[in-house]
Amino acid sequence: MRLRNITGSKEIIAENRYVIHEPEKFKGCWNRDIFGNDNPIHIEIGMGKGRFIMELASGNPDINYIGIEKYSSVLLRAIQKMEANELPNLVFIRMDAEYITESFDKDEVARIYLNFSDPWPKDRHARRRLMSENFLDKYTHFLKQDGLLEFKTDNRELFDYALTQVPVAGWEVLRHTYDLHNDEEMSNGNIMTEYEERFSSMGNPICKYIIKQERVR
Ligand code: SAM
Repeated sequence: MRLRNITGSKEIIAENRYVIHEPEKFKGCWNRDIFGNDNPIHIEIGMGKGRFIMELASGNPDINYIGIEKYSSVLLRAIQKMEANELPNLVFIRMDAEYITESFDKDEVARIYLNFSDPWPKDRHARRRLMSENFLDKYTHFLKQDGLLEFKTDNRELFDYALTQVPVAGWEVLRHTYDLHNDEEMSNGNIMTEYEERFSSMGNPICKYIIKQERVR
């Protein structure tokens, strides 16, 4: 995502009530301390401007959503949308997902969404890809055993790489498609992200997989 440094975004976020500061303090108690209920928790990592997770949260009031974004200037856009349309079941974290295991406890999360994650095209940066074995291993620390991870991208090379990582990390592919918008079953209920709208309008087919952990921990 192209980043424009928006003056003051760090300061605005530091004081914003939709953003959970020091998220590691809520490890193991997100439901009790933040949402005040026992609903399942779904997270989106790299949510960008937040359109996808806000639409999900609006349509699913019985699920708690946490949107994670690394950059303040991008998160600010999601905050502005929340200010216009507050959702009680959604909060944001400004965090590099590299440190995600510090903020979620075993079995705390029921679903993970990755949408149009940065490709990190150089081999030496492969570990930074959010669907790499490195990250799948992190997710096993807090995703429920029967929890799902959903990934969408228009980058075919990245998608092929992502598929190779699934068995290596001890996960299994439940469903996948190389053309989501023409896949009747998988496109049912699909919510478009900002990037998805942009790239599909350019004619790029959208790839998607849904995976789960294979081995019992
Ligand atoms: N998911 C949105 C969409 O589909 O429209 C945004 C896609 S954009 C290409 C990727 C987003 O992931 C950016 O906003 C970027 O800042 C964020 N991101 C990349 N690496 C991240 C990380 N390690 N932790 C948290 N967010 C990250």
